[in-house]
Amino acid sequence: MLISEKMSAALNKQVNNELHASYLYLGMAMAFHDMGLKVFAGRFHQQSEEERGHAGKIMKYIQDVGASVKLESIEKPKCDCGSAASIIRAALEAEMTVTKQINDLVALAEAEKDYASRSFLQWFVDEQVEEVSSMQELLQWVEMAGEKNLFVLENRIAATMK
Ligand code: MG
Repeated sequence: MLISEKMSAALNKQVNNELHASYLYLGMAMAFHDMGLKVFAGRFHQQSEEERGHAGKIMKYIQDVGASVKLESIEKPKCDCGSAASIIRAALEAEMTVTKQINDLVALAEAEKDYASRSFLQWFVDEQVEEVSSMQELLQWVEMAGEKNLFVLENRIAATMK
């Protein structure tokens, strides 16, 4: 095994964190669907898939360095899904939490002089800048438009989706 037991446990915890983020976004997508905002729903559904991809990327790394993936239960997502703005605020907060989790993993890799993990984690450091930035932008748009005009934003959001 190329990484320590401690790093293996921390990476396994991050697999669970990413799957939880995926589950949270899935719940948010369902809430948007119920509001009749199909493009918002699609955007959050896509985000949920992306988080599942993040978990997969970490799982592959754990296996590549000769450690074992241990799947745990995924906590039920908690979301104040009463309005579009409150959902996006919760998503932004969740991305800030994930950023902190990634930074803690980087700090552990550096403390252990585990340069393989440090290098692997750089992709996630960069990804979090992107995630926080795009969620901030979305929140700004929603606040500008106001809850009654969200449907007009849907074309703009659709244009940002690949
Ligand atoms: Mg993620």
